[in-house]
Amino acid sequence: MVTIAERLTSAYSRVEIAQQNCQLKHPLTILAVSKTKPLEMIENAYQAGHRQFGESYVQEAVEKVQALKHYRDIEWHFIGPIQSNKSRLVAENFSWVQSVDREKLARRLNEQRPNNLMPLNILIQVNISHDENKSGCTLADVDSLAAFIDSCRQLNLRGLMTITENTPDKAKQFEYFQQMRACFDRLKHQYPQVDTLSMGMSGDLETAVSAGSTMVRIGTDIFGKRQ
Ligand SMILES: *Cc1c(COP(=O)(O)O)cnc(C)c1O
Repeated sequence: MVTIAERLTSAYSRVEIAQQNCQLKHPLTILAVSKTKPLEMIENAYQAGHRQFGESYVQEAVEKVQALKHYRDIEWHFIGPIQSNKSRLVAENFSWVQSVDREKLARRLNEQRPNNLMPLNILIQVNISHDENKSGCTLADVDSLAAFIDSCRQLNLRGLMTITENTPDKAKQFEYFQQMRACFDRLKHQYPQVDTLSMGMSGDLETAVSAGSTMVRIGTDIFGKRQ
């Protein structure tokens, strides 16, 4: 049987090769996406040295964060859609939220982030391929949403996130990722703390990395297929 530690090692080297192939040298973070997977697998990855984990379903996510509280240096990222009535749980339990796509949600997260915690790191989710099954704002919405987030004391704007349409057309996908990159570069120019472009998953990470992603979110490749 292949262990989680071995799968992590392969994921790290896959990302490293992707980077070498396009001669990019900026740091790339791997977010291990553990949604639907048991605590034990997260603990295995932690013991193998991994620290950044992503979850998508509020209730499951909060239970896991609470159950693993003794691992104090885990960095938890919320990456799934958030209904407004669940925002408090996310604001109280996570250090990053990658799925902010509307002002109302940003306002609630800002109000609900406890004052004794560091400001919540925020990525704006962009639905770059206009996929009707996915959340995310349009590129045209990014500037005003970024300005709003930047004005919130308990939020720290760090960049952008996207999930692209699952298509075998790599050229089209690359084009979407490049549009994200261009928007990210503009944002970075305006807000010096912006440093994170989260794009690329198990199926498309090479394409995303070649377009300049700074964070890839890997689920299947590390934890195996989900039910
Ligand atoms: C599930 C999920 C992933 C991981 O997808 P894999 O294809 O399993 O690597 C990445 N990002 C988001 C937002 C997800 O919901």
